[in-house]
Amino acid sequence: MAVKPDAPEIISINGLSKSYGTFQALSDIDLTVHEQEVIVIIGPSGSGKSTLIRCINGLERHQSGRIVVDGVELTGDHRRVEQVRRRVGMVFQSFNLFPHLTVMRNIAIGPEVLLKMSRAEAEATALELLIRVGLETHALKYPSQLSGGEQQRVAIARALAMQPKVLLCDEITSALDPEMINEVLLVIQELAESGMTMLIVSHEMNFANRVADRIVFMDKGQVVEEGPPAQLFTAPREERTKAFIGKILSASH
Ligand code: ADP
Ligand code: MG
Repeated sequence: MAVKPDAPEIISINGLSKSYGTFQALSDIDLTVHEQEVIVIIGPSGSGKSTLIRCINGLERHQSGRIVVDGVELTGDHRRVEQVRRRVGMVFQSFNLFPHLTVMRNIAIGPEVLLKMSRAEAEATALELLIRVGLETHALKYPSQLSGGEQQRVAIARALAMQPKVLLCDEITSALDPEMINEVLLVIQELAESGMTMLIVSHEMNFANRVADRIVFMDKGQVVEEGPPAQLFTAPREERTKAFIGKILSASH
């Protein structure tokens, strides 16, 4: 994905630190995301990837540093958290669909309640999104009647229905059977190609190599190294990055 070098900043993180009690989960993180940029965050389990993603949409409160999303700085102020959440969509490892609502209602309810769309308008939008993720024939089913891969594609459509400026994805294929991973990654790849700004935590290195403008490698709560996939995967500068990539590649062969 070619990002214009002068694309405006949509997320700006400076000196971000976050502790859980005495445990420091994030240490002095700096990260900038530009509009239409796709960033894949990699790193060992426990390195703080989820914490970082969760801080960006205000699911976790940080103790120091600044997070600015589309001009809104996240502070303790609840109204700002609301403003940021309007701009930032999130897809989780566990799909978190409403079990008692149909696929159509799962997608339409957010725009109806929060964007004040009419039911007809929200459902028309939902149908367009279902076509986009290849699930239009499943609109009237309930989540339990779908496979994991299908449920995750509904979760992506639901996030998109809120017209986010940025989409955050936290290991969205980790709970899926292997044969369903690709259908979800394909949807994300198409979104990337359509210009959606995304911050994606993933262990799928081939996918990361294909879609990312930049890879960010985290370890022990720090951003150790970042760079374009070609550089980071084939010529990492830092020893910790080399060790992690070596381990991942040897595990996948
Ligand atoms: P990752 O997503 O990279 O696996 P996380 O961001 O989930 O890492 O976690 C980073 C560290 O913070 C881990 O050591 C984890 O145990 C710790 N942690 C995460 N959430 C909490 C929490 N709510 N309370 C205490 N510790 C937490
Ligand atoms: Mg995680």
